Amino acid sequence: MCGTGTDWLDERTIHDALDGVKSPDRGQIDEIIAKSLELKGLSFDDVALLCQTNTDDLLAPVFAAAKRIKEAIYGRRIVLFAPLYISNLCANECLYCAFRRSNGQLVRRALSMGEIRDETLAILDQGHKRVLMVAGESYPGGDFSYVLDAIRAIYETRNRIGDSIRRVNVNVAPLTLEQFRELKDAGIGTYQLFQETYHRETYARVHCAGKKTDYDWRLTGMDRAMRAGIDDVGIGALFGLADWRFDLLGLMMHIRHLEKEFGVGCHTISVPRIEPAVGSEMAAAPPNAVSDRDFRKIVAILRLAVPYTGLIMSTRETAAMRDATLELGVSQISAGSCTDPGGYRDKRDEAAAQFQLGDHRSLAEVIKDLGERGYIPSFCTACYRTGRTGHDFMELAKPGAIKSKCGPNALSTYLEYLINYRPAGLDAQGRNAIRSELICMSTRDQRAAKSLLERVEQGQRDVFC
Ligand code: SAM
Ligand code: SF4
Repeated sequence: MCGTGTDWLDERTIHDALDGVKSPDRGQIDEIIAKSLELKGLSFDDVALLCQTNTDDLLAPVFAAAKRIKEAIYGRRIVLFAPLYISNLCANECLYCAFRRSNGQLVRRALSMGEIRDETLAILDQGHKRVLMVAGESYPGGDFSYVLDAIRAIYETRNRIGDSIRRVNVNVAPLTLEQFRELKDAGIGTYQLFQETYHRETYARVHCAGKKTDYDWRLTGMDRAMRAGIDDVGIGALFGLADWRFDLLGLMMHIRHLEKEFGVGCHTISVPRIEPAVGSEMAAAPPNAVSDRDFRKIVAILRLAVPYTGLIMSTRETAAMRDATLELGVSQISAGSCTDPGGYRDKRDEAAAQFQLGDHRSLAEVIKDLGERGYIPSFCTACYRTGRTGHDFMELAKPGAIKSKCGPNALSTYLEYLINYRPAGLDAQGRNAIRSELICMSTRDQRAAKSLLERVEQGQRDVFC
């Protein structure tokens, strides 16, 4: 099988797997759950079986197992980030997206480098350390160097206390091998790209014009990214386009393909659901809308299937749904987000936004709510900066050793946030949470965490292990 080909995405196998099992019995579910609790992941057929699990009595143990796995691997730590939309210009015609070329209702805006620095400052002043840079597929002057300049501008920006963004992840349209190399040289963290749907026929129906009509170019995007040396890649499907079961199995095939070709799968998986978007009839009534129950099922199945892969939940979802899925396996969330270019510095402009947000809370409000539910917010960016990416990351993650890094780093970055940004009413709650978390750690991790915390109290910043 050729690495740049797409024959690994075998639609027939997906259909056969879904048609082959109608509804699994308790014995089959128990067997899969037992296997998942060994934290070694699940096979394609196991996932197909879980997709067909519909009754509450069979789903309850699946949800309970997801919760156990989440706690065993990630503890109570949740990584936070903010999206940074630099431009909503786009030459494509994705029927679900407000940025699509023919949408006359959208107010168009591509930020200048000065405006990108202003947005970065506004994000930094919330307390964020990690951004996901996003753009439509059309760059001012038609030049990809706009994206590279934007990354540089974000990294170079310092706020009044000298803080800067420590990790820029990027979600832009698939690139050539050479452009991916340039992206890698610009120092990005994760390259993120959603296939939207793995179902070719549906893909063709909803992508009507522009480069994005080329399904294969998109499907092979991660191969080129990996070949260019970007070893943290994030995949995803836009749920609501095709049958969610098909796309979940498509994601599984994509992961297995990357593992086979490059020795490591994806670093993260995103599970966006279609949200209403200015000027999009399809976004108002998605062809295969996913119910809240099925959405929780998707998250739980992924947690069982790929326990070490980060699961990302954006502010597309409401606070209630984000809380429900945090329990089931989500490990990273965006917070205090804007999806219109310039929205952090200027007032949010729904007429320039990609889709409507489901969660409008500020970063401080999200952190307060996380704390009340016993979670520890983390602004950690250590892995990427110490070169623990791709294969090296998985080597540490699989035997469970990564927890000894994530735990202490979550506490030190949380304390840094509390001291530097003094979020109203959060100090006592935050410091109590740090104390409680310390008690739960192993002696060795506790020692590492205490040492980092002392250094932060003494005025050092950006300390990590
Ligand atoms: N333009 C690039 C592309 O399409 O790959 C990257 C940026 S695009 C703004 C990021 C993602 O937003 C898309 O991959 C799509 O999954 C998602 N998206 C588009 N419209 C959406 C909607 N109405 N609701 C939720 N997510 C949406
Ligand atoms: Fe453009 Fe991406 Fe939106 Fe499609 S999803 S219209 S490519 S911004």
